[in-house]
Amino acid sequence: MAVRHTRLWHDIVGVFLPRCCAACGERLYGHESALCTSCLDDLPRLRDLDDPDNKVEAIFRGRVRLAAAAAFLQFTKDGMVQQVLHRLKYGGDTGVGLELGRLMAKEAMQSRRYADVDLLLAVPLHRKRMRQRGYNQAQVLVDGMLEEWGLAKVDIDLLRVVHTSTQTRRGRMARWGNVKAAFRLADPEVLRGKHVLLVDDVVTTGATLEGCALALADVPGIRISVLACACA
Ligand SMILES: [Zn+2]
Repeated sequence: MAVRHTRLWHDIVGVFLPRCCAACGERLYGHESALCTSCLDDLPRLRDLDDPDNKVEAIFRGRVRLAAAAAFLQFTKDGMVQQVLHRLKYGGDTGVGLELGRLMAKEAMQSRRYADVDLLLAVPLHRKRMRQRGYNQAQVLVDGMLEEWGLAKVDIDLLRVVHTSTQTRRGRMARWGNVKAAFRLADPEVLRGKHVLLVDDVVTTGATLEGCALALADVPGIRISVLACACA
């Protein structure tokens, strides 16, 4: 419900106010959505989705078995990516999230390692955080990706049962059991034999994505890949 309200509000505001680029604030022209042409060109794309040695792969190596791991953009402190993701996460700007999702999908669909993905799964928010924010930023990215990719939207009950803030204070070893227990998959049969793509906004330590992947790992025949919008 809250998601719909947020989006509706943005649609209503958009009718009366000129649309502005989420990165530079310049006015957008008719064909542009969320980002202006110049900022689109300036996005720091990593372009390494098919590189098995990219830096996101390195984050997960030895922790969880993934078919592929990568990020779409390079995150830099105070940079453009931080700004647009901040707007998506805290500013209610789901439009920029949908646009980033569409761009992520365009790249993933052309990638050898991601082209055969069967379904997209957003890293879930804890219910408490979801109530505070009203929407899940990773789901917004997935919704944008689905607009472009044409995969069916599947409702997977992957539940976030532990609030992350308690985890981030602990070391990686101490967190291990905690990370795995943080997510619970309600209906494993839906994912049997599928190539599942886990999507999140930013990958830093990888703990959250790792927890999700571990919760899915026991499904027979599953292949799990990871794509983050940005890598810190
Ligand atoms: Zn711009």
